Amino acid sequence: AKELGKNNCQFYAHEMNATLEQKLALMDGLRRAVDDQQLRLVYQPKVDLQSGHVFGVEALVRWEHPERGQIRPDQFIPLAEESGSIVAIGEWVLREACRQARAWQDAGHAPLVVSVNVSPRQFDDRRLVARVADALRDARLDACWLELEVTESLIMRDVGQAVDKMRELEAMGIALSIDDFGTGYSSLAALKSFPISRLKIDKSFVRDLAHSADDQAIARAIISLSHQLQMRVIAEGVETEQQRDFLAQYGCDEMQGYLFSKPVPPGEIPTLLERAVAP
Ligand code: C2E
Ligand code: CA
Ligand code: CA
Ligand code: CA
Repeated sequence: AKELGKNNCQFYAHEMNATLEQKLALMDGLRRAVDDQQLRLVYQPKVDLQSGHVFGVEALVRWEHPERGQIRPDQFIPLAEESGSIVAIGEWVLREACRQARAWQDAGHAPLVVSVNVSPRQFDDRRLVARVADALRDARLDACWLELEVTESLIMRDVGQAVDKMRELEAMGIALSIDDFGTGYSSLAALKSFPISRLKIDKSFVRDLAHSADDQAIARAIISLSHQLQMRVIAEGVETEQQRDFLAQYGCDEMQGYLFSKPVPPGEIPTLLERAVAP
């Protein structure tokens, strides 16, 4: 038994080294990903539930790793956050999303609000507001076409600092929304001091919406809270007509999910704008 225990230990130590090595290799690769042009953005349409029209898109980053192929953000954003590469990656995402929004407008499409995810370390960057202003100016994009998505946990860490920064962004004309709402621990009292225009119902509450009375209650509560605080409310992860119908019936304003479209390369967005009657 002793022998086995020892072997097990070695086995685990070996496994841990492998993962740690992998992690360090990915972190190292991430440092070059921006310069080596290995990142790209896909865009997922956001649909207005009343009109059935696409009014915006969310930019979602993808990493084309030279050896490992496409890596999803859940696997590298946390590493980039840990190593600090997220600041450079986030800046690239912001600039690229603004450039693309401008390109769609220049091509004569109805203007879309482009949403960009902002991670905690990026939000804490002293130069965030200046970086956003630069990105808009360089893209010649009006601030009203940019939205930033932040999570509850991000803004609740230091409410005072987050409020100040968000007020600066709001003063520039940028919309702010709270992502994954309901999964963190926001103080509802604090929520009203933030200049937020939209709450996003997390997809974990949408998944079982057709069957789970609890999830139905949560979704309805978030919709009603949003409206009482004069915000709009969007549901993410909408995959079925049942989910959409439930959300529409209870007054949810907007939706995003595979039912309408997966995230797609920018070239496919114009076609989706045209088929956007009755979702
Ligand atoms: P998120 O911001 O909550 O984005 C929603 C995720 O749900 C996306 O995964 C999207 O592809 C996926 N999704 C969309 N519709 C559906 C649906 O109907 N069903 C299901 N099951 N999933 C759906 P993705 O693209 O893998 O991104 C994962 C997370 O990575 C994002 O979650 C966000 O937190 C982060 N992320 C992505 N891009 C960026 C970025 O540019 N910057 C930062 N900081 N984070 C990013
Ligand atoms: Ca998001
Ligand atoms: Ca989300
Ligand atoms: Ca999420």
